[in-house]
Amino acid sequence: MTASSFQMKESALDPKDAVVDVTLPAGQGWTQELARGDVFRIVDLEGNQAVDTLFFNGRDLDERYSATETIRGQGNIYLTTGTRLMSSEGRPLLTIVADTCGRHDTLGGACSAESNQVRYALEKKYMHNCRDSFLLALARYGRGMGKRDVPNNINFFMNVPVTPAGALTFADGVSGPGRYVEMRAEMEVLVLISNCPQLNNPCNAYNPTPVRLLVWSRQA
Ligand SMILES: [Zn+2]
Repeated sequence: MTASSFQMKESALDPKDAVVDVTLPAGQGWTQELARGDVFRIVDLEGNQAVDTLFFNGRDLDERYSATETIRGQGNIYLTTGTRLMSSEGRPLLTIVADTCGRHDTLGGACSAESNQVRYALEKKYMHNCRDSFLLALARYGRGMGKRDVPNNINFFMNVPVTPAGALTFADGVSGPGRYVEMRAEMEVLVLISNCPQLNNPCNAYNPTPVRLLVWSRQA
């Protein structure tokens, strides 16, 4: 896989067979438990939405997604079909098995009240942001998780190309209406999502939109 390639792979799974099928509005958080072998799909319903996502070992919540382990494991900074999403203990949490967007980011991080204020304007501090959505969803999940349980995340459908000089650029999206990414759980997994409400940069085309979330039981 080269840095400029986009890996398109469609899924054979039918949404009619899904055991979970929900639409998550922009600005909302969400948690979902997966069993080993479950398949999880995120659909970018209207296109160019950023879906900030974290994963935890469902049996040991101290083991969680690691961008460093994931990048090092595959020798590439972009996520797509075949990427193993690695944990802080170097084990695969999930494997991406289908992807019709072709590239996802794990370098850009999540927006927060603080970053909105620093990047955009003082009065942006009180806008909705992913970090607060993560914390609210974790509070509702009710297992005592908080700020220290939120490591660097994945931004599904977000385009953050890295220049040859190593600069990060938040670019126009490469996704479109109906594009999706699908992954298989390699252990029991807790999924944590903030469907990004960001209005100040092009990650969402300045227009945050809903996503569809589906789960199929034990496919492998
Ligand atoms: Zn965000």
